[in-house]
Amino acid sequence: MTFVLQPKTEAGERLVCAAKELQTAFASRAAAADQAGEVCRENYDDLIRTGVASAFVPVELGGFGLQSVHDWIVGIVALAKGDGSTAIAINMHLGISRGMAQAHQMAKARGVNTEKIAVPLSKIVSGDMLMCATATEPGTDLHPRTEAVRTNEGWCINGHKIFVTMSPIATHLGMNLRMRDDDGDHLVTTLLPIDTPGLIPQDDWDALGMRASGSQSVVFENAHVPFSAIRKLGPWGQWSVGVLMNRALANLPLVGAFLGIAEAARDIAIEKLATQKRVGEAVADYSGVQHLVGEMEIELAKCQAILGAAASNVDEFLARHEQQQPTMEAAHELMKDYQAAKWVVNRGAIDIVSKAMDLMGGSGYTNSHPLARLYRDVRAGPFMQPFAVTQAREYVGQVTLGKAG
Ligand SMILES: Cc1cc2nc3c(=O)[nH]c(=O)nc-3n(C[C@H](O)[C@H](O)[C@H](O)COP(=O)(O)OP(=O)(O)OC[C@H]3O[C@@H](n4cnc5c(N)ncnc54)[C@H](O)[C@@H]3O)c2cc1C
Repeated sequence: MTFVLQPKTEAGERLVCAAKELQTAFASRAAAADQAGEVCRENYDDLIRTGVASAFVPVELGGFGLQSVHDWIVGIVALAKGDGSTAIAINMHLGISRGMAQAHQMAKARGVNTEKIAVPLSKIVSGDMLMCATATEPGTDLHPRTEAVRTNEGWCINGHKIFVTMSPIATHLGMNLRMRDDDGDHLVTTLLPIDTPGLIPQDDWDALGMRASGSQSVVFENAHVPFSAIRKLGPWGQWSVGVLMNRALANLPLVGAFLGIAEAARDIAIEKLATQKRVGEAVADYSGVQHLVGEMEIELAKCQAILGAAASNVDEFLARHEQQQPTMEAAHELMKDYQAAKWVVNRGAIDIVSKAMDLMGGSGYTNSHPLARLYRDVRAGPFMQPFAVTQAREYVGQVTLGKAG
């Protein structure tokens, strides 16, 4: 098990230890939540109680003080071994909370009063702040059509977001949107309370897999936020360093969820093989079974190795650019590494779960068996953007050839 991802920092160890302790409870609740197609509230109470949801919050404010992206990913792998839906959902929350913790750290380093920035971080610890995140809109990508228009009181938002994971129980929603002013056309971000008038959840999530992720659509009809709630990220419709880093860092940990699902499927198959008999013989003694287990293990090692390396690279990249903004080329390289890891793990995880099902035989195909859920959940991996499967190789080729925009 040399390739299994392990935390590298003390805060990461706390996160992974807490996540592992939740695996059994999450797995025991997963079938009911999947069947109902509903978010399992108890899982999130557990994530808050154990400190997983506040992992990025500084220690002095009650969190673990997590900083390592690598260890964040190891935590997501561990959570997904219990329940994939919950792992992808809390990943969105962790991504936003990481940004808040960084802002706090930077303010502290500059000697600025951090009292105001500490308020939401304390709310994360107490469980009064649980955040979902949305970038996705129908029929568009880098060009959100959801737009903030300036009024006398602040900004007025209109538009439509889809796949807003965890939004049925979140207290806040973080998103990207368009904003035009005298300086140009911008991609901006905002974080607003989920009960903001004009923010209308559509209660329309009914999918093949990740059924307990609560990934419903949300419509915005004249939703108002104050002037201070909008932050510029980059130009609308173009890659920029900010957007490349934002998308790569928030989404690489999601790849961990699909690795965790694959690990769970592999464990189910191996556990069954430890006792499975057929006409008095151990099934594990069949040469065909041994070959298939070998293939599954090699695929798993490949996925673990590339994700572990990509995750470590991110921490090194961030350390290298602590004092200085990365160049566009460097930011594209970061996105390229994420795409390579995503490509290998998303496809490999689907293959591993499928092999585990072949090993399990027909019982794994019945709806009451956890493998049937893992088989459906793991299929969501390639849809997680950026990029679509049909874009990823082109992008990696463009970066390699120095032709990325
Ligand atoms: C379970 C689940 C949870 C999710 N949670 C979230 C979330 O919390 N927040 C969030 O923001 N998003 C979330 N997403 C959305 C996800 O990240 C994708 O953005 C979304 O699935 C894209 O929709 P689509 O597949 O219809 O792609 P589209 O981008 O609409 O593409 C449609 C088709 O066109 C192809 N295509 C698109 N562009 C190109 C191109 N340039 N070149 C070649 N082919 C192209 C694609 O392969 C695809 O077949 C979630 C998705 C899932 C499945």
